[in-house]
Amino acid sequence: MTWSFETDPEFQDSLNWIEEFTTTEIEPLDLVFRGPGDPWDPNSPAAKAMAPLRDIVKRKNLWACHLERELGGQGYGQVNLGLMNEILGRSRFGPSVFGCQAPDSGNAEILAKFGTPQQKAQYLAPLLNGDIASCYSMTEPQAGADPGEFTCTAVRDGDEWVINGEKWFASHARFSAFLLVMVVTDPDAPIHKGASIFLVEQGTPGMDIIRNSAVGPYIEQGDGVHAYISFKDCRVPAQNLLGEEGEGFLVAQTRLGGGRVHHAMRTVGVLRKALDMMCERAVSRQTKGERLADKQMTQEKVADAYTMMTQYRLHVLYTAWLIDKHKEYNREVRLEIAAIKAATPKVLVEVVSRAMHLHGSLGSSDETPLATMWANIPELGVVDGPTEVHKIAVAKGVLRGYTPHDGLFPSYHTPTLRQQALAKYGHYLEP
Ligand SMILES: Cc1cc2nc3c(=O)[nH]c(=O)nc-3n(C[C@H](O)[C@H](O)[C@H](O)COP(=O)(O)OP(=O)(O)OC[C@H]3O[C@@H](n4cnc5c(N)ncnc54)[C@H](O)[C@@H]3O)c2cc1C
Repeated sequence: MTWSFETDPEFQDSLNWIEEFTTTEIEPLDLVFRGPGDPWDPNSPAAKAMAPLRDIVKRKNLWACHLERELGGQGYGQVNLGLMNEILGRSRFGPSVFGCQAPDSGNAEILAKFGTPQQKAQYLAPLLNGDIASCYSMTEPQAGADPGEFTCTAVRDGDEWVINGEKWFASHARFSAFLLVMVVTDPDAPIHKGASIFLVEQGTPGMDIIRNSAVGPYIEQGDGVHAYISFKDCRVPAQNLLGEEGEGFLVAQTRLGGGRVHHAMRTVGVLRKALDMMCERAVSRQTKGERLADKQMTQEKVADAYTMMTQYRLHVLYTAWLIDKHKEYNREVRLEIAAIKAATPKVLVEVVSRAMHLHGSLGSSDETPLATMWANIPELGVVDGPTEVHKIAVAKGVLRGYTPHDGLFPSYHTPTLRQQALAKYGHYLEP
């Protein structure tokens, strides 16, 4: 096994270009388009502003880099994708300008793998091109982290499936061309064998959005992008079942692993941005005759933030390297993904709160990006499953490698080990 922390020089040139492009062309979008759906909604004025930038990215062969070559990606691998995403994470618009925005990125992978030729022609090509948006809807109002509590069902009726029930926090549903909806198709089976994923076209009779929630206190309530949806006798054609009946969770696996790693990669970008702001402030602000940067308590904040960010960054890149190595989301990879997913809100709290604190009143105000960063932290502790659930997965994965030790005292009991060691080396103690 080889270890390397080098970036391929040719890809480094691309990263340098991405950094420059993100700073000069993309980050200004954040200051102009501030609606909750702006980076994803094809009908938002921001989409028009993004169009020429997307063309440049496509010409540079950097569009939708998460995709394999057969789907039009570049096959750069997860490590390079990680290095790229940590730059894109500086802006809400970064992923959309580079064609790797959630949930479209994962939904495209599902459609590519399980869609019919007709579905691919109708939806996959425009989705990959960034012309339409899509939604992945699984959570229900009474149940999120535990799919065993799901009650939204689909029942086969001739050539159709009839969906009844409710879904909650379905991001981007209101402007999506289609939704991928996970529903119970066999209530008697355990949920992991009794749920299926259906493609539901926007406008299908029987599907209605009850309201749209936003994350954080947006002034216009109802303007959010996370839909509360009702399905009442909503009929979809039989061919809209993606994958086999009862295999919804297998189909969903296609998207979740990659999505979680990409979130983590972009979090590195947020952390770096917070650290940059913190350091600029520390060397700029004078107090009691010296710079904030000269005060030891500031130095401790900078050192802690830098160390935590670097530990997290290396863990994310290590996980990306494992995915590249194994070419699948095997047990080892899933453990690391769960670990970085659980670490994400914690490292953000640690770094962003230090950066805000060092900025004093300005840090709490709406005049730096810090307050928005802060408001977005809690969602990263629940989206794609709460921290607790990922910690359970980590602990189970770690403990799986251990077996109980027979005997009254543990295998590392020093007096016992010393007896064995003396038997081996004790004669050297004799005069
Ligand atoms: C910004 C955002 C976007 C989202 N987008 C989508 C989307 O597009 N599609 C979609 O389907 N869903 C989406 N979700 C929903 C998300 O997947 C759920 O929030 C998540 O699965 C948790 O479900 P819940 O919110 O019902 O929380 P609950 O399941 O009610 O959990 C709440 C809390 O209970 C505790 N808890 C839960 N389970 C356990 C456990 N096993 N052990 C210990 N404690 C536990 C944890 O503290 C947890 O945070 C989104 C959420 C957010 C915040």
